[in-house]
Amino acid sequence: MIRRVNSVLSCIQEANNVLVVGHIMPDGDCISSVVSLSMGLEKFGKIATPAIDWRIPSSFSAFPWVERIREYSEEISEPDLIIVVDASSPDRIGRFEEFLRKGIPSIVIDHHATNTYFANECWVDASYSSAAQMVLDLLKLMDVEYDSDLALMNYLGIATDTGFFRYSNVDSSVFEAAAELVKLGADPAFVATTILETRKIEELFLERDAIDNIKLISENRFAYSYLTMRDFERHSLTEDDFTGFVGELRSIESVEVALFASEACKGQAHVSLRSKRYFDVSEIAVAFGGGGHQKASGFTLNYESDLKEALREVVEMIDSRLRNETN
Ligand code: AMP
Ligand code: MN
Ligand code: MN
Repeated sequence: MIRRVNSVLSCIQEANNVLVVGHIMPDGDCISSVVSLSMGLEKFGKIATPAIDWRIPSSFSAFPWVERIREYSEEISEPDLIIVVDASSPDRIGRFEEFLRKGIPSIVIDHHATNTYFANECWVDASYSSAAQMVLDLLKLMDVEYDSDLALMNYLGIATDTGFFRYSNVDSSVFEAAAELVKLGADPAFVATTILETRKIEELFLERDAIDNIKLISENRFAYSYLTMRDFERHSLTEDDFTGFVGELRSIESVEVALFASEACKGQAHVSLRSKRYFDVSEIAVAFGGGGHQKASGFTLNYESDLKEALREVVEMIDSRLRNETN
């Protein structure tokens, strides 16, 4: 770890203008890592541009600096260093992939076991709870002085990627990192309320539709559900507004594997996978061109038929693996 992070630091020292890029369909860890690393780089004397090639979900607009995140545009000048955070493969950064193709010096800072090592310098460590926790270690090494906004933004990703300190990626280092950031001014109650308690009533109606679609198979060990584009349209919501339902499916007592699919546009859905104890969902995600972690993964499903029909192949793969498990 020390050697990798030191190489990352040397690249940063040589650069002046740094583009910090997160992944498409951003989550809390992505936004936290992009913003806190950009804030830290600025305090370190660099010009930093936070960038994510996607709409930022509205629940994050209450956080500092989020309005500074840039979507891809031809007006963004070429940086002399690009740092990709929380993304396991280059296709996850949308149109910013173009900068990598041009050969601009690049770094990846990531905690996905499925990372494809697509930058010049790769600091990948799946033992970290979150990319945000890696950013904290890097900024400490850089001797960056934290203010309360930076502490808050850095805390955000650790809290969200651990399901607010509930998942199996939580160890003592997570609590130490969180405690450090709270001492520096992060407000845990503000983060929890802003992320968890700002739902629109339409999201609950949509949840009712998702509940109606639940199927429980493989001796009740596998729960899955989906929402179509029409469901989202009926409640004037988009798939970005409806996250977390896959966690509800996993919370069913007998369930080991949960799958939730949301149709983003005609012929394309985002599929979220979760497991509870032993099943490695990242193998399923990788088989369908995606990635992630052992207990939380995802991929994009493209199809010509309807969503329900397209899901059959995925459902069958999970069902047959569950049947073959000797656990
Ligand atoms: P999600 O189900 O969207 O919350 O994603 C769960 C995990 O899988 C996260 O760590 C994501 O970074 C990863 N993931 C989701 N979608 C993809 C994808 N299309 N390709 C690679 N990794 C993904
Ligand atoms: Mn993420
Ligand atoms: Mn993450």
